Amino acid sequence: MKILGIEHLGIAVKDLENDAPFWNHILNIEHQSTEVVEDQSVTTDIYDTGNGKIELLESTKPGSAIAKFIEKRGAGIHHVCFEVEDIYLAIKELKENNIHVLSDEPSTGAEGYKVVFIHPKSTGGVLVELAEKQN
Ligand code: ZN
Repeated sequence: MKILGIEHLGIAVKDLENDAPFWNHILNIEHQSTEVVEDQSVTTDIYDTGNGKIELLESTKPGSAIAKFIEKRGAGIHHVCFEVEDIYLAIKELKENNIHVLSDEPSTGAEGYKVVFIHPKSTGGVLVELAEKQN
């Protein structure tokens, strides 16, 4: 597979209203978009440094992946996302190498990217997201 770069860092937050201003107003990183990703029961709030993004993640309902993560480990870095050239090829190669991919098919993530997640068991402890930009 071909990795094109680090697309974003995903950060789990308890409360966007309280936590977003640090990124937006103190670090002064430009706000790009805010959207609810229904599939993942999450609101994503994205800031773009121009060279990699910060994706703040707030749970939209109890029991979601982000809610469980915060319960277990507290707020903080949740995943690292790499942009790939071809997500279907990436999934195929991962599976051939017995890497634990969380789904066989990509789903649609924030900003319309096709995304898939790799289980931390296969990566040394970090949840890894792969994303292919759609035109
Ligand atoms: Zn992400």
